[in-house]
Amino acid sequence: MRYLSNTVSLRFDAGGCTGCGSCLEVCPHNVFARQGQRVALAARDNCMECGACALNCPTGAIQVKAGVGCAYAIIRGILTGSEPSCDCSPPAGPTASPCC
Ligand code: SF4
Ligand code: SF4
Repeated sequence: MRYLSNTVSLRFDAGGCTGCGSCLEVCPHNVFARQGQRVALAARDNCMECGACALNCPTGAIQVKAGVGCAYAIIRGILTGSEPSCDCSPPAGPTASPCC
């Protein structure tokens, strides 16, 4: 899934990365990739601004303004007991709508 180019608020300080790998684990869209002992931005425009990477980065090397699309996905996941998903595909049902 790709969104608009160069509109994402994601900021990554490569010099502050220790290579712990937390962002690799939590990012649902594979925005980061392993690069030697650290990570690098691999697909910045794939970011949906969920904020999980910044929340889990122990060094503050990542900054992002979490967006409403992910909030919808998280709330829907809680209500349905499913994994949060923000792939923008409309869920089933007459009142359902895509998150963004
Ligand atoms: S904000 Fe979410 S989608 Fe964007 S890079 Fe971080 S974990 Fe991945
Ligand atoms: S969570 Fe932070 S320190 Fe860990 S690999 Fe990702 S950017 Fe580097």
